[in-house]
Amino acid sequence: MRDFLTRLGIEPTNSGAATTTGFLETSGPERSITSPVDGSPIAAVRLATRDDYEHVVVEAQRVFRGWRMLPAPKRGEIIREVGEALRQHKDDLGRLVTYEVGKVLSEGLGEIQESIDMADLAVGMSRQLCGLSMHSERPAHRMYEQWHPLGVVGIITAFNFPNAVWAWNAMVATIAGDTTIWKPSLKAPLTAIATHKVCDAVFQRHGWGGVLNLVIGDDADVGEAMIADRRLPLISATGSTRMGRHVGQVVAGRLGRTLLELGGNNAVIVHRDADLDLALRGIVFGACGTAGQRCTSTRRVFLHESIAQPFLDRLVRAYQSLSVGDPLEASTLVGPLIDEDAVAMYERALVTITEQGGEILCGGKRVARPGSYVEPTLVRASHEMSIVAEETFAPILYVFTYSDLDEAIALQNSVDQGLSSAIFTDSFRASERFLSHAGSDCGIANVNIGTSGAEIGGAFGGEKDTGGGREAGSDSWKAYMRRQTCTLNGSAELPLAQGVTFDL
Ligand code: NAD
Repeated sequence: MRDFLTRLGIEPTNSGAATTTGFLETSGPERSITSPVDGSPIAAVRLATRDDYEHVVVEAQRVFRGWRMLPAPKRGEIIREVGEALRQHKDDLGRLVTYEVGKVLSEGLGEIQESIDMADLAVGMSRQLCGLSMHSERPAHRMYEQWHPLGVVGIITAFNFPNAVWAWNAMVATIAGDTTIWKPSLKAPLTAIATHKVCDAVFQRHGWGGVLNLVIGDDADVGEAMIADRRLPLISATGSTRMGRHVGQVVAGRLGRTLLELGGNNAVIVHRDADLDLALRGIVFGACGTAGQRCTSTRRVFLHESIAQPFLDRLVRAYQSLSVGDPLEASTLVGPLIDEDAVAMYERALVTITEQGGEILCGGKRVARPGSYVEPTLVRASHEMSIVAEETFAPILYVFTYSDLDEAIALQNSVDQGLSSAIFTDSFRASERFLSHAGSDCGIANVNIGTSGAEIGGAFGGEKDTGGGREAGSDSWKAYMRRQTCTLNGSAELPLAQGVTFDL
């Protein structure tokens, strides 16, 4: 049943660092990784120390000096092969994602597909790293902007997308000419090790070991060393707002750059003229998919008062029909939470919800089976409840009613996070209001689809406490490069701009 571990090269104990010539002999403490699916140990990782990190960063810098000089389309050709390697290992990697973090198998496979899509996108991007050209005010002068690689990029990833969040960053950073150091979550290091092995093999084959690097270590030790390190001009960090606030401050203290992808508290508005069948499916997938552990998970729903009660009845019935269980089984829709800490957080949130006057309409309990399973939970809530403004990383959905669309939009925007948002409506005016400057304040605003399940072609990210970063498609590649404005003089004169004279 666990053959996929062997095929992916996962050993009983694995090294926690890799660079130019592959995995290092790490000497940090050993950490056992257990599966949330059944609570059983999967394998162990010997963590990287600061010395290991130091070795990796020196190598990543050295390799950068060569890698940056390879033409971007040639870098893209290597990424095309990385995409092929991911295709070949999609099934095993998807199973490992499911076994290590508990998302259902179709989502585990979907995550690897997202990384494959990112590779394909990055191949195209490698021929499209375009700068603008401008007309100069000076005769026979020309101005243009060009983009250079930044250097060694630090990539810190959250547990809930243990493969794809890396790919959002690494595929684009590498075609941009950067080398990367990946520090994955200690809750999902095995997917990182397997992913690194699959993708690094391609780079090694081309003589480019050290473009992709990996360091798995403690936050207080290796994590802190990485974010304070001036040799890393960009830290791209995905995770909680608490983590991002700290990382942002440390990196700003050395005037480095950050790309922050942090927590969400995403809402769906169901307007009076919505297609309720669509809305139901969009909301249940958004709230219960990945057991409510996506940054884009739906956490709040605003129902127009005219449809509220019948829709709520349907929502309760849909929740009661959800199959919670082993995520490797095809019939399961909701797998476990990541670990016992997450179950404890879910249970604490339910106590607070009751104390604050919320009415639990269904769910609200741990599921009695080995592993970290909980019931998807629906709560009738009010805005006096302070907990609705927090991101509880579990399948808990707060339901509110509203009478006026602007009121619903204002309530949706009233939280600190600003990642994803959606409205279900068949009214052109309502949808345009939602998308207008007076509408959603989030980085993602959807009409007639839910809050989760973004495609990689668009720039992904959010506002306010979500951190303001943008990754994946559109012009997100600019975050991984530095801009240079060049002025070229093709004349025999030296005129100064703004009419300034300086005659010697
Ligand atoms: P987390 O904040 O606990 O950890 C995220 C990463 O930060 C991990 O790799 C962790 O080791 C690292 N980290 C923590 N402290 C650090 C430090 N001092 N120095 C360096 N690294 C440090 O988050 P999590 O529990 O893994 O993930 C869930 C959170 O991530 C949720 O809030 C979710 O919304 C968010 N998330 C956001 C996005 C997005 O794109 N906006 C995507 C996925 C997850």
